[in-house]
Amino acid sequence: MKRMDKNLLDYLTEGLKWSGIVTGGYFSLLFASGIFGKMPWYTRINSQEELEYVVAEECKKLGLNKKEIDVFYDKYNVNCAGKRDGRLSLNISSFLRPTKHAVRHELCHLVKDCDKFEKFIKDNKRTMKGWLYYLFVAEPRAELYATFGIKL
Ligand SMILES: [Zn+2]
Repeated sequence: MKRMDKNLLDYLTEGLKWSGIVTGGYFSLLFASGIFGKMPWYTRINSQEELEYVVAEECKKLGLNKKEIDVFYDKYNVNCAGKRDGRLSLNISSFLRPTKHAVRHELCHLVKDCDKFEKFIKDNKRTMKGWLYYLFVAEPRAELYATFGIKL
């Protein structure tokens, strides 16, 4: 009986250790990329023209055709990317980090996530599975790409 209790405790400790490592790693990644994203070399984008230029540059790196993407500076108050009326669309807000980093982050969503996001919408709302996907797959992946250029 004592033996079993010890095993159970071992498993529990091990489980807690790993969830701690994963959770810590997750938040450090978001925190670190937040700081990197504010470094001076992430020059602010100030206009539609500058944004078009950065998007064109970054599309080449991802093998995207810029002509297929409707690019907006400040049309919405959030940085977002996805499908609108059957076309790809990307918006960068002047209020929220309008940088090359933000463009790279949103372009990564266009390549990797926008089809999947659609599947996770039910009754115009993101499902629980959708939120988990967004938090633990889409966001860390987009940040890794935007900050370090790592394609996963
Ligand atoms: Zn994102």
